[in-house]
Amino acid sequence: MKTDISYARHLDSEDELSTYREEFYLSPDKIYFDGNSLGILSKRAKKTVEMLMESWKEYGIDGWSEGAYPWFYLSEKLGKMSAHLIGARPEEVIITGSTTTNLHQLTASFFQPRGKKTKILADELNFPSDIYALKSQLRLKGLQPEDHLIQVKSKDGNTLNTNTIIEAMSEEVAMLVLPGVLYRSGQILDMETITVEAHKRGIIVGFDLCHSIGSIPHQLSEWGVDFAFWCTYKHLNGGPGSVGGLYVNQKHFGNNPGLAGWFSSNKEKQFDMDHTLTPAESAGAYQIGTPHVLSAAPLIGSLEMFEEIGIARIRKKSLELTNYLMKLIEVELQEQGFFIANPKADELRGGHIYLEHPEAARICKALKAEGVIPDFRNPNGIRLAPVALYNTFEEIWKMVQILKTIMENKAYKNFENKRGVIA
Ligand SMILES: *Cc1c(COP(=O)(O)O)cnc(C)c1O
Repeated sequence: MKTDISYARHLDSEDELSTYREEFYLSPDKIYFDGNSLGILSKRAKKTVEMLMESWKEYGIDGWSEGAYPWFYLSEKLGKMSAHLIGARPEEVIITGSTTTNLHQLTASFFQPRGKKTKILADELNFPSDIYALKSQLRLKGLQPEDHLIQVKSKDGNTLNTNTIIEAMSEEVAMLVLPGVLYRSGQILDMETITVEAHKRGIIVGFDLCHSIGSIPHQLSEWGVDFAFWCTYKHLNGGPGSVGGLYVNQKHFGNNPGLAGWFSSNKEKQFDMDHTLTPAESAGAYQIGTPHVLSAAPLIGSLEMFEEIGIARIRKKSLELTNYLMKLIEVELQEQGFFIANPKADELRGGHIYLEHPEAARICKALKAEGVIPDFRNPNGIRLAPVALYNTFEEIWKMVQILKTIMENKAYKNFENKRGVIA
């Protein structure tokens, strides 16, 4: 592979998604590689927030049924717009809540310990919030997390083995919750095989798609996954605290949700004000209260771009970007003590690269001082996410050069090797 800047520019000239960069508010003096933590604001997202502010201004209460995007149906509309990203039927998806509250809702709904089956299967590498939620749900059912939460172990501290996961599916497991893509190493789990094997053993299957939605394709309906949940501020560029999403397979429609509220209702019946809930015959039944309309608004504009492009093209470019980044790191940084800790194979690699280095905290600070925005993960990880919608091959080239300089002139030693409050 060629390592000069002209080759990076050549790759950019062949990039069929290059025009989408213009859609985003990128700072000219920064290289943003943190779109897997917080995606960048797009012009369309800003516009749709303004449109919904306008409908509030113009219609007041009637904004629920009037305007370009009537608020009463917005969660369902956004669910439909998201369905293609995860390979679901439109009515199987709803935009509501947050990752953690959706996991609470889905566990309250799907975890029904009976007889021998009283345990939840998770893993030791998942994001803490998921584990806190699962433990608290076990306690609510009067079960001790120490005995009832099984966390599959990782052999190398970064990845999980499908067979190890399958071996942990004992007859005591009632439900499993695993990430689609691991937040640290970016490993893609084999969601299809895990689902098939779990179902053979009567285990309900849920996936956390925070790092996979908008980054890789999924076929949740086809695989028969029972439920899934995610946030929309990472690869989906919904903005800080944008409303999350959930998927429930249609085979579960018609049941009461674990945590009910009036927005769980069949929409025709909701305003009957009856004290007996008639749940929506869709994923909409897992909503609780009034939707956070203004925090859902940016998603209208943002998801429109994903619909236009399609996840297959996004994935294709994402793989090219991360592949290019790994090759440059191997060539340019080979003497600097970095370890590429994400899986290298295309089918196992999500949307970001994960580097380990003992000085990672201060290397990240030095990169930031040079205008590169990476993502530090305690204690020694650097995540770099070149995003298909707005990053370029030239930015990757420049970032690697900056990193090389920081390492060669030891500029990182000017910083303390300690994380900030938000890292
Ligand atoms: C980002 C992320 C979360 C965050 O949860 P919120 O409820 O949105 O704060 C949870 N789990 C995983 C795996 C994540 O990547």
